[in-house]
This record gives sequence, structure tokens and C-alpha cells, in this order.
Amino acid sequence: MALIEDVAALAEEFAVIRRNLHRKPEIGLDTVETVSLIKSKLDEYGIEYEDVGVNSVVAVIRAGDGDRTVAFRVDMDALPMEEENEFEHRSTVEGCMHACGHDGHCASLLAFAAYLSAKRDFNGTVLLLFQSGEEGYEGALRIIEDSFFDRFKVDYMFGYHAWPGLETGRIAVHNGACMSSEDRFQISVTGKSGHASMPHVCNEPFAAVADIIKGLQSIIVRRVPSNERGVVSVTQVHGGSLPNGIPDKVVIHGNVRTCNEKVQDTIEENVDRVVEGAGGMYSVETELNYVRKHPVLVNSVPEIAVSAAERAVGVENVVTDMESSMAAEDYAFFMKYTKGCYVWIGNGLDSPPLHNSRFDYNDEVLPIAVSFFAEVVKELL
Ligand SMILES: [Zn+2]
Ligand SMILES: [Zn+2]
Repeated sequence: MALIEDVAALAEEFAVIRRNLHRKPEIGLDTVETVSLIKSKLDEYGIEYEDVGVNSVVAVIRAGDGDRTVAFRVDMDALPMEEENEFEHRSTVEGCMHACGHDGHCASLLAFAAYLSAKRDFNGTVLLLFQSGEEGYEGALRIIEDSFFDRFKVDYMFGYHAWPGLETGRIAVHNGACMSSEDRFQISVTGKSGHASMPHVCNEPFAAVADIIKGLQSIIVRRVPSNERGVVSVTQVHGGSLPNGIPDKVVIHGNVRTCNEKVQDTIEENVDRVVEGAGGMYSVETELNYVRKHPVLVNSVPEIAVSAAERAVGVENVVTDMESSMAAEDYAFFMKYTKGCYVWIGNGLDSPPLHNSRFDYNDEVLPIAVSFFAEVVKELL
């Protein structure tokens, strides 16, 4: 692997910035200090920027007179959990840590800004989008609602995640679906409460609840083709408070993942069918609230990412046959508006998993990410 020389030279400086970001994690849309650091660095490099969404920022770098625009997006937010690492750069904020590597994503895009501002050897516009609120806070939607795609004509957008379980030095590119959709549902089952000794004068909701849970479990095996992937998980059941009483109402919560929009439709239809069926059978009232939280992240131009990755890390280090992940990523929303590709860059085979209290972004990923981005720019601009 031969990284671009100017990028390799930036690695140590930006690893220091990365560790500083790791020490001061911020949650959700409240990425105030992180954005302030980004802006001060962009000022230093003489790069223009605009606020977008909620505590997100987009840097705009133009060179030549080309009319094509390529965007690169990273996330910045941390997680509300206690860090168990004991290294020097561990979190200084109680109950908050960078357990998903967004500190590294952010530092690498800053390094890319430094690299591009020094070079400006392309023809067109590069946008560097630093996004808040990826971890379930709808940061991407806030940016889209802030007219991002009206303010900027984006021809392509690229992004990456540091990926545990993939060797350092490797880049994985998925042809099509890369990360799954996420849907959440809440089912209310309402009967009639009463004494546990006299169920015949009540209308107890639990029999319907039991059938609903069994019915939900059967959707993947009976309704989804066997070559497709999907998960339906019941995550919470709430109901009842007495040892000798039947409650009025029980509420079930659940979570759905798929890597195919048609399968997503099939699952939603069948959740509805299972709930309606149980309601009719037991004469209880049912109400389903089904929310599509994230779409499937589909890579529309994997071939561009593959050739850039091959130049960045060598053909032998580009992996194109990894299973897509059943975790969701809100970068998926951007792919509804423009072409692009989201890749994984190896955080190491022995890296703790994402969202683990001992996770840490591997600083070796940073120059690889910048080299990959630089190769994309060379190819498209
Ligand atoms: Zn995460
Ligand atoms: Zn993440």
C-alpha cells in the first residue's frame, strides 16, 4: 500500500486532533464545540463554509471552472455511554464517549480539507459536510430539510465508516446495499380489565399479545424469500401492574431491518396483517404505529469507489464481497437525492465492535480515508 505522500505527512498532526476530539465527545445535534473547532481549522486553511441543518457545517472548496460538484460527508456525534478505555485520550465527559469512531471520521475530513486547500489541483467544487446527530437524532434529515440539495448541486456524495472486523489497510465496497433500513413499530392491544379470577367478564389482551409475537416471528421465515435478509425483533412488552388483575392495555415495541426496499414493504404489510388478525380473533382493539426510521443505504456508483480504493490501497486490499450490515446509517437519506457510495475502512481485526465501551478509532485509518477521498476527486474532478 502506497499512500499519497502529502497525505501520509498529515497523519500525525491529525491523529493529535482526533485524540482531542475523542477527549471531548458531544451527543446528538449538540456538536457545538466540535463545529467550533472545525470552523477555526477551516479559517486557518482559508476555506469558506456555511452552517447547515443543526450544528452541522459544509465547507466549500472551488478550483478551476468545472461545474461538477462532489461532496464528502462525515458524522461528528458521540454516544451517551461510559468509556472503559484507560488510555491518555479517553473521554473527559462523564457518560459520553466516541464509541462509533466519529471523532476519527471528523478529523480525517479536516485533514482532507488541509490537503485540498494546499493543492487545489482539481476542476470543480468539493463540498466537505460535517454532520451532527447521526446516532438516531436525524442529523441528515435536518440538513436535507435545510435545502441542502437546493443550495448545492451535488453530483456525487461519498462517505465512510471505520469498520471493526476488517483488516487495517483494507477498504470494503458493496455493490448495492451496504447498510440496512431500520423501522420501528409500536402495537397497542386494548381489552377490558378486571379480576384475574374472572377472566370471562374481562377481555384480557395477553392472548392476542402472545399470538402477535408468534406471528411477527414467522414473517421472515414464511413471507420473505429465503435469499433475502431481514430481521423482526420484539424489543419491549409493557402491560399489567397487579398480581391478581387483568390489565386493559398491553404495548409491544419492535424493530425491523432489511437490505431491500421490497422486503421492507412486505414486512410492514405483514406486521399490519398479524396485528389485525389477532385483534379480530380475540375481540381486542389494536393499533399499529409503524415508522420507517432509515432507508436502506444503497451504493449507486460502487465502480467509482472501487477504482479510487484500488489506487489508494492497492487492488489486493479492496474487498467487494463483504455481507452488508444490518446496522442502519443515516447517510442513506442523502443517497435518495444524489449518486454516491459509502465504504468501510478497516479498523482492524482485533478492534472492539462499534458502540463498545472499549472501542477506539484506529489512527491508521485516517490517512487511508484521506487518500481514498483524494483519489475520488482525481477521478471525478
Ligand atoms: Zn454508531
Ligand atoms: Zn457510526
